[in-house]
Amino acid sequence: MKKRTKILATIGPASDSLETLVALIKAGVNVFRLNFSHGTHEQHSHVLKKIKKAMEVTGLIVGVLQDISGPKIRIGELEEDFLLEEGDKIIFTKEEIMGHKQDDALYRVCINYPQILQQLKIGDFIYLYDGIIRTKVSDISNGNVEVVVENRGILSSKKGVNFPNTRLGVDVLTQKDKNDMEWGVVNEVDFMAISFVQSAADMIKAREIIEALGGRQNLIAKIEKFDAIENIDAIIQASDGLMVARGDLGIEVPYYEVPNIQKMLINKANEASIPVITATQMLLSMTKNQRATRAEISDIANAVMDGTDAVMLSEESAVGDYPVLAVQTMSNTIIETEKHYNYYKFDEFKITDSGDTINKSAVSLSCDLNAKGIFSITSSGSSARKLARYRPKKTIYAITHDALTRGQMTLIWGVIPLMSVRKESLEVILDSLMVRGLENGSIKKKYSYILTAGDPIGKVGSTNMIRVISQEDMYAY
Ligand code: PGA
Ligand code: MN
Repeated sequence: MKKRTKILATIGPASDSLETLVALIKAGVNVFRLNFSHGTHEQHSHVLKKIKKAMEVTGLIVGVLQDISGPKIRIGELEEDFLLEEGDKIIFTKEEIMGHKQDDALYRVCINYPQILQQLKIGDFIYLYDGIIRTKVSDISNGNVEVVVENRGILSSKKGVNFPNTRLGVDVLTQKDKNDMEWGVVNEVDFMAISFVQSAADMIKAREIIEALGGRQNLIAKIEKFDAIENIDAIIQASDGLMVARGDLGIEVPYYEVPNIQKMLINKANEASIPVITATQMLLSMTKNQRATRAEISDIANAVMDGTDAVMLSEESAVGDYPVLAVQTMSNTIIETEKHYNYYKFDEFKITDSGDTINKSAVSLSCDLNAKGIFSITSSGSSARKLARYRPKKTIYAITHDALTRGQMTLIWGVIPLMSVRKESLEVILDSLMVRGLENGSIKKKYSYILTAGDPIGKVGSTNMIRVISQEDMYAY
């Protein structure tokens, strides 16, 4: 049986050869993530070419997600590493300086977004080095912020800074991000993920930039800031998908809140019929080891049970020693977990339009008539997404004339982007679908199928019919 939950793998030096890309697809990768925190456009273009080649070699469709790096806040250069002890003080200055030790137990540094310092109040926290060193604001004078170190640690140049209870008020899209987005539109990536989203306005701005460039990419909001949690409903309205970005999220909110937030985000994304990715540290120990920990396997299984559309690998596949083995481990865990999956979630969602009802009924029919699969003829992919939210046990085949929509279907739970067809009448599409599907073995005469479509074909959001294709009908092809 094929797995229904999708896998994203981040590509990096450990995985960017054609041979490894092919092996990763065969092991179960559905979407490759290109991380624009690293690498040049030239390097990414080269990888993209190889991904396309790997699709040809395997005959399988994978999507490409471009991860836009956003405003990563960092301290500046340091003259030497700071050996920080509990109770030491650090002054964050507005001026650009070389960080240094000023006195016994007193240090001075700058950050790359000094305007944030104005937002801080006494008692706020500043976390350094991925949350490893925690500090608390003790004094503010002349726009310089003094903090007290709460735990010992070694701080070196350019380490990341988090402000877990401060609204940053910085633009989430930098000039570099805008240049990267232009690359993504030109190269027709399927998804763009926006980092450190704070509010719906950030997603709206990202969409305006893409539309001005003539792009139609699906926009994924990376939920990794405390204020994104507060604004989640509006963010969902403005997004085509979510990422539970647990790496930064676990620094921005207390670490013990992450599991509940993960469940909340997955539920809300399911309700809205948008895909959700659970990301970061899922198989971290496999960066160096051939075997995962029990806890990691449970983490994957639990994300699947929570209802995630996809699980993601970061350093495991980008720089780890065992990228293919990590994907195989994920695939095996997903397949086993899905044997006990909560399929047919009919009663969990609000019905907001006729598309919801039609797709719910199609899933219900597929169950009652024991159909083999559900065909969704879709232009924007929205009806396939709606079918998926009911989590049918039957495979959903998304049929579309739009190459971008086809790529975007790779992320949706349980959906197979089957083939693209030309925009024709329903009968012509159905005929060619049957002939080609029977030929390549993806469709079989001995089964019945359910079909949903909008007739006439091609109008977005116009799903208005369900057809039962019985075994007898199948024998007519
Ligand atoms: P990143 O995002 O890997 O780009 O930081 C994911 C996360 O923060 O979990
Ligand atoms: Mn992050």
